[in-house]
Amino acid sequence: VIGYYNGRFVDPAEGVVPIEERGHEFGDGVYEVIRVYAGRPFLLEWHIERLLNSLSAVRIASPHDALGYKELIQTAIAKSGEREASVYLQVTRGAALRNHLFPEGEIAPAVSLVVRPVTTHPSACVGTLLAQADERWANVYIKTINLLPNILAKQTAHDAGADEALLVRDGYMLEAASSNLWFVRDGALITAPTDRYILPGITRRFVLDLAADLQIPVYEQKLPYTQLARVEGMFLTGTTTEIFPIGEVITHPHCPIEATLPSVAPHPLAVEPEGCTRIW
Ligand code: PLP
Repeated sequence: VIGYYNGRFVDPAEGVVPIEERGHEFGDGVYEVIRVYAGRPFLLEWHIERLLNSLSAVRIASPHDALGYKELIQTAIAKSGEREASVYLQVTRGAALRNHLFPEGEIAPAVSLVVRPVTTHPSACVGTLLAQADERWANVYIKTINLLPNILAKQTAHDAGADEALLVRDGYMLEAASSNLWFVRDGALITAPTDRYILPGITRRFVLDLAADLQIPVYEQKLPYTQLARVEGMFLTGTTTEIFPIGEVITHPHCPIEATLPSVAPHPLAVEPEGCTRIW
């Protein structure tokens, strides 16, 4: 196990984060989790590409380029001595006096990282999902550290005896709390498209490549919850979840599946003042 905070390798239990770090005051940051197999980070380039996309979506100037992250991650793995591990990498807007507005002037974004051994779960295991309304915000394609709705959904699933949450928005089954969702029907795979309402999973992208190699047809389409009975198989994908078969979906009276209004079109997060119109 090894930790890292702003240029220094540390014991992860050491208190190194300033109280007024925007990551823990506001959840003002983004992250990645990378799986290490036999001492080597898996699909590292794709993870770094997504990290850079997340940073630009929340308007944090990246403190490293792709090569800088690659070197940091590889150094951390080597220092940890771990072979079967996960790397948690987080970049926040940094430490400044608490204010919702971005800090004035130059403050350095904070980079933290933890390498931990993982225990692989048995491949024979078949999981259960608890269907729930997706209560996350409308930009979940950004891998932000604001995970409260995901945590509550996964805990609710766990409390009901399930392994994961099946998140339903506008009547469509989109993904799980920390993994992407796939259906098998008529010899084809179905998974939600990468719009703003799912995280573009790295394992999802890898499985798309595998399906292409194996000439298995894939439909990147949103499947209505009402079609669940017609599905022949289901599985989840995720960096630490890997490929996890699902054998059962359950519901609970406390978790009604809402049929809300159709969602609005994406909008850019940055607004130019010159483009504003006075309406009152
Ligand atoms: N969907 C959500 C909401 C996630 O949090 C994650 C991973 O943490 C995934 C999907 C799977 O993504 P990946 O395969 O990149 O781990």
